[in-house]
Amino acid sequence: MDVEASYEHLLTSEYASLLAMEFGWNPVVNDEAAFDIYPPPPHPQPPTLPLRPPVVTIMGHVDHGKTTLLDTLRSASVAKGEAGGITQHIGAFSVPVPASGSGGDARTITFLDTPGHAAFSAMRARGAETREVIELINKEKVGVVVAINKIDKPGADASKVEHALLAAGVQLETFGGDIPSVQVSGLTGQSLDQLVETVSALAEMQDLHAEREGAIHGYVIESKVQKGLGPVATVLVLRGCLKPSDHIIAGLANGKVRLLHDANGKSVKTAYPGMAVTVSGWKELPNAGDEVLKGSESEIKKALANRERQADLEATLGDVEILNEQRRQDRDQKEKEEAAAEAGEQIEEARSKENGPKELRLIIKADVSGSAEAVAGALQGIGNHVARTKIIATGVGDVSESDVMRAKAADGMIVAFAVGVPRPVQSVAASQQVPWITSTIIYRLMDDVKAKVIGLLPPIIEKRVTGEANVLQLFDIHIKSKQTMKVAGCRVTNGLVEKNKMARVIRNGDTVYEGRIETLKHLKRDVTEVSKGTEFGMAFGSFSDLREEDIIQMFTQIEKPGIL
Ligand code: GDP
Repeated sequence: MDVEASYEHLLTSEYASLLAMEFGWNPVVNDEAAFDIYPPPPHPQPPTLPLRPPVVTIMGHVDHGKTTLLDTLRSASVAKGEAGGITQHIGAFSVPVPASGSGGDARTITFLDTPGHAAFSAMRARGAETREVIELINKEKVGVVVAINKIDKPGADASKVEHALLAAGVQLETFGGDIPSVQVSGLTGQSLDQLVETVSALAEMQDLHAEREGAIHGYVIESKVQKGLGPVATVLVLRGCLKPSDHIIAGLANGKVRLLHDANGKSVKTAYPGMAVTVSGWKELPNAGDEVLKGSESEIKKALANRERQADLEATLGDVEILNEQRRQDRDQKEKEEAAAEAGEQIEEARSKENGPKELRLIIKADVSGSAEAVAGALQGIGNHVARTKIIATGVGDVSESDVMRAKAADGMIVAFAVGVPRPVQSVAASQQVPWITSTIIYRLMDDVKAKVIGLLPPIIEKRVTGEANVLQLFDIHIKSKQTMKVAGCRVTNGLVEKNKMARVIRNGDTVYEGRIETLKHLKRDVTEVSKGTEFGMAFGSFSDLREEDIIQMFTQIEKPGIL
């Protein structure tokens, strides 16, 4: 056989069958089970295709003004676009580029206004900073424009920023490199037109071409259920075109396109490459980040059945892994306990010392995979050597019944960031006693998880002494018919001595008994408390060995949550 042998080379089923037969196996080819829909193959001559608008994402440190910049760009796009348009947040919007002298074609730039903002901010706050963005752009080979923001601020020093970037290896045009930079203010709008033009010029150099017809390749940017429209997703088209009545698939969701709208809420007949549109007509809610592809109704049905089977298989394998891990841990724990018991050690001690910290096991669900990672990053490592979090799975999309079962199998909980927990799933969680929390604010999730980890810590028991008395003398008193009872005659030296409250008996510095005071008498009368200086008689219920010179110490016991 003459087959290319690199590892990423896909074999046809024929070759694969021949190979299998050479090793003595009897292959069964099931084309149906392997069927899926893929993006169209790359065009042989991209420059012959029409240009498409560039897609831009703004990256930067938290508080550097990304949201403000996007807001200003978005509202400027409305002012320049159709009158009366009301911008909606759909995860992306398009900004017109003023026609340049040459072509005169009205060009646009698509800005991504990505969700999961809080999550990404949290990630950046934790140290993913400029350096990581630089690594990313070097790796992905994307075009970059540096916007030096907040230039309106008194004392703003752009050259300082430029030098810092130079030191970090970002070669700005200012210093003879090839990365353009623009000094802007997202707040006042200063030089934003220049920013748009610079991005457009860079895009022109990149020569972005794409088919404007045929099979599409796009991505889900955001998705939500909208009243009256059902599941709606913002789709960014990169190749091909999307029209009403098209049959589409994204992950495990599919549908027939009903309506397309742009960020101004305007109905769109056809979405072309570079455009982001909201798409209604989905049967299920697709996940942000999923690839959107087109096919015939029957192709989509086949692909969906195969994807669902694959997803079930993966989920089952995942569960098996969790179960095996759980069983392995249980086994280890048992072995250790047995060994400890044999060695005559205290089992409790063995548990805390040898088996490491208690774990709060988490299954994280988020709107997009970037947020899921960021949430995992933020929750990972909450705790100490006694109790801490352990992330056992992360995923994208609403919390599902299988997430609940997974959490149940792992004895863990579900953390949902910016995704829903559908009612039926809530009831399954309740019946399986699987806790879940949900929020769109990452710090809230962090607080909740921290509180849960604290719950795993052994409580701190605080004993506070509330009174003290000395035993002066012991005597018998008569109770009922011929019965007598030993009573200690004491004097309160401090605080209060109270009936039915906890007391300990201290003899020669050691505590010899702890229990409640059952009998408390003052001048032969039963009383509930006696205070400093008072002489009184007392007895415990089940301790009759009080001696002279014992000290009776009253105490309260408060259980406080552990401290991280
Ligand atoms: P993000 O976290 O990067 O999205 O930053 P924001 O857009 O939320 O901005 C953070 C803070 O900086 C806010 O208080 C803004 O008002 C302020 N800010 C944003 N852009 C500018 C700007 O161009 N000039 C000035 N002076 N302040 C700005």
